[in-house]
Amino acid sequence: MLSARCGFPRRAIEPKIRAMSADPPKLLVSACLLGRPVRYDGAARTFQDDCLARWVAEGRVVATCPEVMAGLPIPRPPAEIADAQSGAAVLRGDARIIEADGSDVRDKYVRGAQTALELALAHGCQFALLTDGSPSCGVTFIYDGTFEGRRHAGDGVTTALLRQHDIKAFSPGSIAELAHLMDHGAGDPA
Ligand code: SF4
Repeated sequence: MLSARCGFPRRAIEPKIRAMSADPPKLLVSACLLGRPVRYDGAARTFQDDCLARWVAEGRVVATCPEVMAGLPIPRPPAEIADAQSGAAVLRGDARIIEADGSDVRDKYVRGAQTALELALAHGCQFALLTDGSPSCGVTFIYDGTFEGRRHAGDGVTTALLRQHDIKAFSPGSIAELAHLMDHGAGDPA
């Protein structure tokens, strides 16, 4: 289970919240981070964080699991982006997403990414909080396609598509930076 503390004291945040527009930023969030058991192994990856809990209570969070939205089952075989490539290469058609037996599941994962993007745009999400390491939701690292637990720097196909549409993606490890943008506004100095 992941855990983090909100990095900003509420007393410092409240005046800024009042000064913001009537429509504070919304956030697309990987459903598994919100405790939903949608991962390939049927588990969740719950991220317990004060800021995230408050944004949920404020109605500013839109949950999505791109892989489930693409029609993939729970559980399902794990998949990785092949040949140490990354999400942008998958979107260009230059890389595959494979299961351990070599099956190419790229089209389903791209469909999931497109569905997640449509959801984010429909709700006006400016930011996304996504699960690192996933071939869909990875933000800072993913696995290299060998199914041997080897990581490399890169993002998943959903994250890459969101970034191509100017939706800023964060992993749980960057929650303090995300909280600043969500609660202080993108133009407010640190
Ligand atoms: S696709 Fe994203 S939301 Fe769905 S289980 Fe994988 S990491 Fe979680």
